[in-house]
Amino acid sequence: MTQENYNAYQTAQKQFDDVADLVNLNQSAREILREPSREFHFTIPVKMDDGTTKVFKGYRIQHNDARGPAKGGIRFDPNETVDTIRALSMWMTWKTAVVDIPLGGGKGGIVCDPRTLSDAEQERLCRGYIRQLVKNIGELNDVPAPDVMSNAQHMLWMLDEYETIKGARYPGAITGKPVGMGGSLGRTEATGYGVIYTLREALKTLNIDITETTASIQGFGNVAEYAARLYSAMGGKILTISTWDNQDKKAYTYRNPNGIDVDQLVLIKDKFGTIDKEKAVSMGYELLDGDAWLEQEVDILLPAALENQITAEKFPLINQSVKVICEGANGPTSTEADQLIKDRGIYLVPDFLCNAGGVTCSYFEQVQSNMNYFWDKEEVLDKLDTKMTAAFHAVHELAEEKQLYMRDAAYVIAIDRVANAVKQRGWI
Ligand code: NAD
Repeated sequence: MTQENYNAYQTAQKQFDDVADLVNLNQSAREILREPSREFHFTIPVKMDDGTTKVFKGYRIQHNDARGPAKGGIRFDPNETVDTIRALSMWMTWKTAVVDIPLGGGKGGIVCDPRTLSDAEQERLCRGYIRQLVKNIGELNDVPAPDVMSNAQHMLWMLDEYETIKGARYPGAITGKPVGMGGSLGRTEATGYGVIYTLREALKTLNIDITETTASIQGFGNVAEYAARLYSAMGGKILTISTWDNQDKKAYTYRNPNGIDVDQLVLIKDKFGTIDKEKAVSMGYELLDGDAWLEQEVDILLPAALENQITAEKFPLINQSVKVICEGANGPTSTEADQLIKDRGIYLVPDFLCNAGGVTCSYFEQVQSNMNYFWDKEEVLDKLDTKMTAAFHAVHELAEEKQLYMRDAAYVIAIDRVANAVKQRGWI
């Protein structure tokens, strides 16, 4: 499937259908779980700095809230589609279930390119988004958070609008806020660190010493940067990192055969996670094609950019040396490529387990916000490690016991938990 005709929602539903068949899920549970419970589609008029008004499209989708309030990020993306948000909301339901936090799944998006908007325009856009949704979100029903190209400042503008309309403080209504303004220490690192906690456990089960491994990473945004930092700190060697170049409208892979110094590379990336090509070359990095991150002779591939990156067409590029794929991004692997990964015997840590550190820390932020008492960073990261490690082993053990592919095992656990909640509530 090419990027143009890829549909994340079809992928999410196909993954669900396959596991629903595998566990013989009853018909009414299937009908409830294979579609979102609620969808909000709306327009957001924004006064631009030049005096004109531009109308943006916004979405919030609540896939399931049987286990607790819906939870999920808001993406700012010029190519956002409603089907992508549907898929992501569904994956959030499985994500919160697999790490066993008392939340459901939701996702939002605004079709926009924040790189082309001034700060004032972005603030008005955030406030407009909340005005359209204020009746349908909040700490008791649906808790938004940042995602691709949205950040802590956007969340604070959104929370401020929410609280202004409500006339009171609701710090648990939105997570991903700045530290000191209701944000949790450790949230910035949480997703990337969570990826590496699961990688560390996967390598242990495979009897591989992390200090003797090499990795190739796609992306250098929030998830990839902190995954890269922790992986390097644990002694792993990163050979390549690839990022999107918005000027050239293509991706490039940056290679240092001696191992990438993450601190150094961070200095030459912008806030959207794009590496400065000229500076990288002048610092001695080899500049390769966007797909070259797949071809490297490494032990670990870490897709941490966007969906549909490991497809059946691209799979043959993957070097025979690869033993583990850790999905930092949501939905980076197509269903066809899943089969090829299975056939080659590569160990997969599936997305909604691997990148659940973000939502787990968001949950910790909500708990701290509601208590109005904040933990230190060490305590947050300790609790995160405990949750991620436990979730990883539950999935790994089921996969071993039933001889399941890791993605299927994660789905079996998550679907079972959500279907039980739906049943216990008397919805079916
Ligand atoms: P981000 O916007 O901070 O970074 C995205 C990175 O991907 C950038 O470095 C960009 O250059 C790169 N990129 C984009 N297109 C690319 C391409 N074609 N080839 C190579 N690189 C490309 O985003 P993020 O927050 O790091 O999220 C990355 C992924 O992880 C997304 O799938 C997101 O949904 C998922 N995720 C994020 C979080 C979180 O807490 N941020 C949590 C769970 C899952």
